Amino acid sequence: MNIHEYQGKAILQAYGVPVQEGFIAETVAQSKLVAMALKKKYGADLFVVKAQIHAGGRGKGGGVKLARSLHEVASLTEQMVGMTLVTPQTGPAGKLVHKVLIARDVYYPGESEIREFYLSILLDRSKSRYVIVYSPEGGMDIEEVAATKPGSLFREWVDPCSGICDFQLRKIAFRFGLTGQANKEMQHFIRSLWEAFISADAQLIEINPLLKTSDDRVLAVDCKIILDDNALYRHPGPAAMRDVTEEDPLEVEASDNSLNYIKLDGDVGCMVNGAGLAMATMDLIKLSGGHPANFLDVGGGANSKTVEAGFRIILKDPNVKAILINIFGGIVRCDRVANGIVEAYRSLGTINVPVIVRLQGTNAEEAKKILDESGLHVVTAVTFADAALLVSRVLM
Ligand code: GDP
Ligand code: MN
Repeated sequence: MNIHEYQGKAILQAYGVPVQEGFIAETVAQSKLVAMALKKKYGADLFVVKAQIHAGGRGKGGGVKLARSLHEVASLTEQMVGMTLVTPQTGPAGKLVHKVLIARDVYYPGESEIREFYLSILLDRSKSRYVIVYSPEGGMDIEEVAATKPGSLFREWVDPCSGICDFQLRKIAFRFGLTGQANKEMQHFIRSLWEAFISADAQLIEINPLLKTSDDRVLAVDCKIILDDNALYRHPGPAAMRDVTEEDPLEVEASDNSLNYIKLDGDVGCMVNGAGLAMATMDLIKLSGGHPANFLDVGGGANSKTVEAGFRIILKDPNVKAILINIFGGIVRCDRVANGIVEAYRSLGTINVPVIVRLQGTNAEEAKKILDESGLHVVTAVTFADAALLVSRVLM
């Protein structure tokens, strides 16, 4: 599950990770109160207003702006809330901004140099270990650093049993070129970030920029966290941070029905049981000259209810010109699925696109009979190859 920057920072703070001080605002009035509070509490005169969307690259898209007064905080909030922000990560459609994070400007001048670093923690499946990826050259152009100067990107693998070791903290802090107080602060930062990563069951934490201020504090200016969906039941607080307005509405409806659905750009909707068969079916659609409109795995326990929900979701996609249902009856009995299709047809009324059904396995014969005798405009196929042929014919 993705969460917003401000929510990620709240999780980090709960584990003692230092973050840039700030509060959330949804209206101009709130933004003024927030800025006043920051002024009072931290003596802040300069602020940064940051659009909260589930995508990065906001700095490049105009979603992170400096404000030199309470008045500017208010006018930037007015500008950003309600705007559609397009960044290199949102795609051309952009994302609607509902909230902004007002933070204290932490790039204030002082005794020592300000530095921006990059640091993330994730799982390296090929090594069965966690990996900390870090670079002394953090900031908005990290993707370019990774592409053009891979030598300035470092990795530190962490054994999940022993956790992070002190020597690793020292190594990273020294490689960042930090000495004295800043070095200590950095080690503390990484140690607590590690605690947060493990305790919150995160899949990814990415801090960019990770800032060393001019008075040698080390803090997270930005934060991207992906939480492990399978562990959310252990974290009711973070689980409640889900923002469905950031998700595709059809994907939300699918997850409410326990369906594994991913919207794609093609024209052939498909409904399959099993993720592997679903992938193979998408390949089949491509080979037949079509483009899959979605990935949909109805799971091993498909019944008439799930089939109906799947149909409803596929049909809500206006691009869909044909539907291919490909079920292998193992535990699922094909006749039950066929009855599900008939029921779905009846309850949904007319379905104006051709539906090709391939049911194979347990009780496939009965299933074919049910569909053929139902009087519905369903074309049945027995083999994978038959189904492919039918798909290409329908698309002609
Ligand atoms: P992203 O572009 O979506 O990754 O958003 P970030 O939170 O990383 O912000 C983008 C950039 O804005 C950062 O790389 C910083 O250079 C800059 N920035 C963020 N906060 C501040 C701040 O408090 N003061 C100043 N001067 N710049 C900031
Ligand atoms: Mn960033």
